[in-house]
Amino acid sequence: MQASLICFEPQCRSRFPITEVLYNCPVCGGLLEAVYEGDRLEPAHWKKVWRERRLSNAPLDQSGVWRYRELFPFLDSDAHVVTLREGDTPLLPGPKASAYGGLDRIVFKHQGFNPTGSFKDNGMTCGAAQARRLGMKRVACVSTGNTSASMAAYASAGGLEPIIFIPHGNISYGKLAQALEYGARTLQVEANFDQILALVRVLAEKLGIYLLNSINPFRIEGQKSIVIEMMDQRDWNPPDWIVLPGGNLGNTSAFGKALRELHAGGFIAKMPRLAVIQAEGAAPFFDFMQKGGEFHPVIHPATLATAIKIGDPVSWPKALLEVTTSQGVVEKVSEQEIADAKAVIGQCGIGCEPASAATLAGVRKLTAAGVILPDADVVAVLTGNVLKDPDYIYGYHTGSLKDPAGAAIRSSFGNAPTVVPNDPAAIERLLGA
Ligand SMILES: *Cc1c(COP(=O)(O)O)cnc(C)c1O
Ligand SMILES: [Zn+2]
Repeated sequence: MQASLICFEPQCRSRFPITEVLYNCPVCGGLLEAVYEGDRLEPAHWKKVWRERRLSNAPLDQSGVWRYRELFPFLDSDAHVVTLREGDTPLLPGPKASAYGGLDRIVFKHQGFNPTGSFKDNGMTCGAAQARRLGMKRVACVSTGNTSASMAAYASAGGLEPIIFIPHGNISYGKLAQALEYGARTLQVEANFDQILALVRVLAEKLGIYLLNSINPFRIEGQKSIVIEMMDQRDWNPPDWIVLPGGNLGNTSAFGKALRELHAGGFIAKMPRLAVIQAEGAAPFFDFMQKGGEFHPVIHPATLATAIKIGDPVSWPKALLEVTTSQGVVEKVSEQEIADAKAVIGQCGIGCEPASAATLAGVRKLTAAGVILPDADVVAVLTGNVLKDPDYIYGYHTGSLKDPAGAAIRSSFGNAPTVVPNDPAAIERLLGA
């Protein structure tokens, strides 16, 4: 297989060696993507090989990402791989969530089961492998969230030095705590996200640091495995819809690319439709798909679902192609809708972080509007673990959660703890009924 980096812009399509350290096209500034040329993979043969690898004890075969390495063959040697047994995430039915979402049946693909608790691990294992292959010693990202937690873990596991840049005073403790524990050097900069990104790009070049931000094309390659594994788990029967939250839209890009490649390669017989759900206060892609014309970033994105609190999503051109190609839709949901959907997912014994619950909230809206039919075969991707954001959960269940504008969020499915006296009779009365 011959792997290259190609500019995503249709009028450019410049080509670069896979080993060049590039984040954007040097000709036009466009996004880059990995492409592979060579012999076609025989679907029946490879489906069998991938299934058999589940019985193997080899770390690469146990990884729910690298098991499918033939579908993203950008490395020259497996020795570069850093794996923490990412992927291998379950498909979980949630009957209460199905009813709430207006569906006969919904199934959750739960990426929160990953080593650092989010789907970022699916991509980061590939990004870290590429960094090692390029001989880099240090890697960096600008993030306050799951990306920094994941990068810190994979860099440290792979003998790389992780450096995280965060906007000063904009810290989410659950995720930052992981980054600190995994040994990342963490720099708080007195600037906003975009300013820091510009600064880090200059520094990275000067200091020979490899950037693992969301546009990194190798992270996108790794995130393809979420959909590939989903198809394998479903015996290669595609669902009608795949629903996911949209922030920077890297995952939307990855899912679409995976589906197109699987379809073109004869691994699946039809393309599922993508439904991308954004939070109302951070919905530039929704607005763009509604109105067309130029893409307008949201200057002050606002949502408690911090993982999708993105005003200027870098991967929107790729996401546009993928949503269009899959005959997909983009929807937006309110803070209240996210919070309630999240509690319902919790009541299924599943749980997730707020951004993930945008999926079920979106499904509920799309079935009500007749876009998704009640008997549709729907997989919603839960992107992060329930424990990422415990303050939000406590706030919701005790009625003290406020949206970014300061308005109270109703605890429609609240489950507050009850204070009881140290009195067996009183407790018996309480539990007796
Ligand atoms: C990163 C992230 C998202 C958003 O994914 P994009 O690829 O940026 O659209 C959603 N949910 C969680 C939990 C995340 O960590
Ligand atoms: Zn270009």
